[in-house]
Amino acid sequence: MKKFFKHPITIALISCLFFTPIGSAIYDHTKNVPVLTDIILKPFSVIWNGILSFIAYKVSIGSILITLVLLIGLIFSIDKIFFSYSNQKDFLDFKSGVLKQWKWSWEWSYNYRTQKYNISHLRPYCHKCDIKMIADYRVYVFDCPNCNLQYNTAYNTNEDKTKIEALILDRIDKGNF
Ligand SMILES: [Zn+2]
Repeated sequence: MKKFFKHPITIALISCLFFTPIGSAIYDHTKNVPVLTDIILKPFSVIWNGILSFIAYKVSIGSILITLVLLIGLIFSIDKIFFSYSNQKDFLDFKSGVLKQWKWSWEWSYNYRTQKYNISHLRPYCHKCDIKMIADYRVYVFDCPNCNLQYNTAYNTNEDKTKIEALILDRIDKGNF
C-alpha cells in the first residue's frame, strides 16, 4: 500500500485531482478578463486571479498542504525517473567489449518478474574476422561463420560464459564501461 502511494503514476493522478479544480478556476476567471488587457500584464493577472479564485473555493488549509506535498513528491518522482532512465541508458549501450582473451557481444533482455535486465545472446567475436561467432552450447563450441575457426569452451575456462557475465556486471558496478 505504501508503495502504491509512492508510485509516480499515483502521485501524478492525485495531483491532477487536486489541480483540476484550480485549473478550472483559473480558466473560468480568464474568460472574464477584458480583451484589451495589456499583453505583458495578462499572465500576471491570470495567476493573481487564479490565486483569488483558489481562495474563493474555500479550500481548507489541509488540502493546500496535501497539494503542496504531492507537488513536491511529483517533482522528486520526475527527477528520479529521469535519473534512473539516464543510468539505464548508459549500461544498456554497453553491449560489447574485450573480456579476458576474447571480444564479446551481448544483448540486454528485461525480466518483468524480477524487474531487472539480464545478459542474453552472449557470443565471442572471431579474432581473425571480427565477426560474431555462432554459439552451440550443447557441445560448448563457438564457430566462426567465415573462417570456421572454433573455440571449444569445454577446454578453456577463460571463456566460461558465467564468468564473462560476472565480469560484465562487475564493470557496470564499478562504472568501468
Ligand atoms: Zn573467423
